Amino acid sequence: MSVLSIQQVSKKYQNGVLALDDVSLDVAPQQIFGLLGPNGAGKTTLIKCILDLVRSDQGQISILGQPSTQASSRIKLGYLPEDHLMPEHLNAEQLLDFVGQLFELPVRIRKERIDTLLNQVGLESRRKSKLKTFSKGMRQRLGMAQAMINHPQVLILDEPNEGLDPLGRADIKDLLLQLKGAGATIFISSHVLAEIETFCDHVAILHEGKLIREGSMKELTAAQDLEHYFVELIRNQPTTSEAV
Ligand code: ADP
Repeated sequence: MSVLSIQQVSKKYQNGVLALDDVSLDVAPQQIFGLLGPNGAGKTTLIKCILDLVRSDQGQISILGQPSTQASSRIKLGYLPEDHLMPEHLNAEQLLDFVGQLFELPVRIRKERIDTLLNQVGLESRRKSKLKTFSKGMRQRLGMAQAMINHPQVLILDEPNEGLDPLGRADIKDLLLQLKGAGATIFISSHVLAEIETFCDHVAILHEGKLIREGSMKELTAAQDLEHYFVELIRNQPTTSEAV
C-alpha cells in the first residue's frame, strides 16, 4: 500500500490559475520523496491539498489508505509549512507544548517529547528564549521539532532547508535519515537540489501544475547531477504562462 496516494488531482484557483493539472503520484513506505519544480510550479498547492488546507477540484488523495479529507488520516502527519508564522511571544518549549496540546498528547508525553526534540534539533540551550529572538535557521529547526511532536508516520516538509546554513542543512539531513531509519516516510519540497540529491530516494518534478518527470534518484542522476538534470528538463519545457 502506498503511504500517500495522489490520483488525478487538479486545482484551479479563483483567479483562474491552474495550479495542479491531473497530477498522480504514489509515495511508498519509508521513502524520502522529493517534490521539485520551479517557483509557481504547484508544489505548495499539492502539499496543501494533501493536508486538506486547499480542496482540489478533482481527484483523490489518500493517506495510509484513508481519504485525506478525513481528519483522522491527518493525525498521522507532521507538517512543516513554508514561511511559517510562529506566535512571537511564546518561547520554544511553549510552542512545542501548544502543538502537542493540539494533538491532545498528555502532559507527561509532551514533556518527554519536548526534551527529546529540542535536543534533536539543537535548540536545548534556547528552550526558554522567546521566538521573537530566533533567527530564520532557529525557526526552521523549531519548525522541524513541532512537525515531529506527534511522532508522525508521514512527515511533510515544505522547503525545510530555506534559511539554513550548511551546518543546519547537514543537521536536517541527519535528522531525516534517522526518521526514515525509524520507519517514517518523508515528502519534501525543496529548491536546494544538491542537498536533495544526497538523501532523497525518489523524485517528482512539477512544471506549471503538471507532473513532467518522476523516477528514482538513481535513474534521474545516472548521467548528470540533479541540478543539471533539472535545469535542462525545465528549459526544454514549452511555457504556457509566466513563472510566478
Ligand atoms: P510553488 O510552491 O511550486 O512555488 P504554488 O503552489 O505556491 O507553487 O503556486 C502555484 C500557482 O498557483 C502559482 O501560479 C501561484 O501564483 C498560484 N497560487 C498559489 N496560491 C494561490 C492562491 N491562494 N490564489 C490564487 N493563486 C494562487
